[in-house]
Amino acid sequence: MAFKPEFSWEFLPSDEIAAKTLRALRNHVSHVKEVSPFYQEAYAAIEPGDITTIEDFQRIPFTNKEHIARHYQHFQAVSAEKIVETVVTSGSTGVPVPLTLTSNDLERLAYNEALSFHSIGVKQGDPVHILVSLDRLFIAGIAYYRGLSLLGANTMRVGVLPLEMQKYYLDFFKPQVLVGVPTFLKKLGKELNELKFDTSACSVKKLVCVGESLKTASMEPNALASTLEQLWGADVYSSYTSTELSASYCECQAHQGGHSHPELVYTEIVDDKGVVVPDGTPGELVATPLGVEGIPLVRFKTGDITFRISETCSCGRNSVRIGPILGRKSQIIKIKGTTIFPLTLTNVLDAIDTINDYIIVLENEDARSDRVSIHVAAPPSSVEQIANQLRVATRINFPVLVSNVNTIQSFRGISRKKTRIVDWRKNLVTAA
Ligand SMILES: [Zn+2]
Repeated sequence: MAFKPEFSWEFLPSDEIAAKTLRALRNHVSHVKEVSPFYQEAYAAIEPGDITTIEDFQRIPFTNKEHIARHYQHFQAVSAEKIVETVVTSGSTGVPVPLTLTSNDLERLAYNEALSFHSIGVKQGDPVHILVSLDRLFIAGIAYYRGLSLLGANTMRVGVLPLEMQKYYLDFFKPQVLVGVPTFLKKLGKELNELKFDTSACSVKKLVCVGESLKTASMEPNALASTLEQLWGADVYSSYTSTELSASYCECQAHQGGHSHPELVYTEIVDDKGVVVPDGTPGELVATPLGVEGIPLVRFKTGDITFRISETCSCGRNSVRIGPILGRKSQIIKIKGTTIFPLTLTNVLDAIDTINDYIIVLENEDARSDRVSIHVAAPPSSVEQIANQLRVATRINFPVLVSNVNTIQSFRGISRKKTRIVDWRKNLVTAA
């Protein structure tokens, strides 16, 4: 399959994208009702022909992680011999849930990533190091690998190697692009500099980052992004994905939000009641991946909070963008009627050099407020400064407790990501 970015819908006028999207969504609902046992039952009363406006589509019931975890066999929409790849997602309870892909699904995944890499200026033959895991049933590594191969980049599956090997390969192959998790790229850069390898002067010109937000809520680079830019002397691009979506949202060279690829995914942001909110208003990201064969989904609630940007990007693309992930919906903090997004706290804490590690512990105060304590591995003399900076960002006094790296590590269970928040809250019912 040749890669033809000029056929993407991204540069079409918005009204044309909207018309194509509505047709695609109607066909998609019709398709899932034919092939997916889950949707045959869940959407029994829905007639795809009745979807004549986007508002009609926005009345269709959501799908969530819980549905997939409980009924994943009913989501599978193809026969077993068509499945060529199985990955897992963490599921709603932390138990891995299998997701199956056909060969067309893998090509679709490759096309998605090829479009993203193309949009940040990666070209045929450019040497690229992938520094994320390609095994352990993760989807991200194979998506990048296949996307870069489709684009024609010189793709190197370096992965996570001992420091001396990373240094050798960087020196020997002179990659222009690194793909990795931001905190890993920060650690790698600092350790290489200690070995007298000057990362800021090396061949790397672009970092494609996955898994952690790199912007503040007002779309400025956060401390992690600024550190990476200086450390590597490179442009830093943020990419968001969730395993179930088989699609990603990657920044273009304008760095003004992650672009969706409209022929591959329809994007909505909804409030607590499931109602679509206007551009710029934070809410839950709901995605309908288009063209998936193995596990097709409709209106999938990701559990991640962000906001939508619909205006034309300065790069000329008319595809919908999303802002940084402000936190998991389940981790939103309430204090006396005020909502605090986890990203606001983590951006402050990540920017303070004296903190070696930290964890935010959430407990119940009462039905209207959470009790938040922030445990930091930092010198006791820095506690006041940390509390001050949190107060400036949120107007709230948070207790900051001095701890150590080992104790903070013990708060974390088995997690793919380096957990910043532990949530010990239980659902409390407000007295009537
Ligand atoms: Zn753009």
